[in-house]
Amino acid sequence: MHPFWRGMLDLLYPPRCEACGRLRREPICGECSAAIERIRPPVCEVCGEPFDPRAQTAPKCADCRGRRRPFSVARSAAYYEGPLAAAIRRFKYHSQLVLGKPLGGLMADALGDGPAADLHAETIEVVCAVPLHESRLRERGFNQSRELGEVVAGAIGKPLLPLLERTRPTLPQVDLPAESRRANVQGAFEANLREVIAKQRVLLIDDLFTTGATMAECARVLRRAGAEEVRVFTLARPVPQWRRAGADARALAREQWVD
Ligand SMILES: [Zn+2]
Ligand SMILES: [Zn+2]
Repeated sequence: MHPFWRGMLDLLYPPRCEACGRLRREPICGECSAAIERIRPPVCEVCGEPFDPRAQTAPKCADCRGRRRPFSVARSAAYYEGPLAAAIRRFKYHSQLVLGKPLGGLMADALGDGPAADLHAETIEVVCAVPLHESRLRERGFNQSRELGEVVAGAIGKPLLPLLERTRPTLPQVDLPAESRRANVQGAFEANLREVIAKQRVLLIDDLFTTGATMAECARVLRRAGAEEVRVFTLARPVPQWRRAGADARALAREQWVD
């Protein structure tokens, strides 16, 4: 766009930070970016559930002890709270597609030696986003997980492929009690491109990890279609109970990371 028209547009619709609403050129301003709480160890070695660093903990959470998950490991970049929660809502429900890049970038930054280091992205062969049902896709106009997946796939230099399809609409998992979530997504996905999936290590991408029921169902379908391994990577996960208890825990978690 010509700088003159860009200037006129900025006068009419000044660019704002999508998280705090202040006049800023970046989709997420510096202050909001800095306020996003990255997930720090210790976490469950399988599902990535963050542990209270003050509590003496086992390598696995109670949910992962004594049962096999269809995915080998799950990690998330940051907590679903504050500016990140605001930005995700703007991204998903107000179609602020401009947020795909910075939010996907937050995930890419969590790889390497960040909170998602255990995903060992260097040995991933193909990236796949959790699909939306076509009715939801039509209504929203885009799949937020695919937007995130594109950035992550680009960062690790692997293809993002539509390996899964959502064959029936499901209720939003957040609206359901934990015990109904598995039934809600059971049988809702089908594998595409089976010849591509066979014997591959797949990185499955979504925006939120709540109970992990959607991820487990997608991983199950991919494994059944021949995937060697499925690793799960989400942008955010809810703040655990122990962390909500107060700022003390927060400060302590931060200290743990620095060590
Ligand atoms: Zn801001
Ligand atoms: Zn776990």
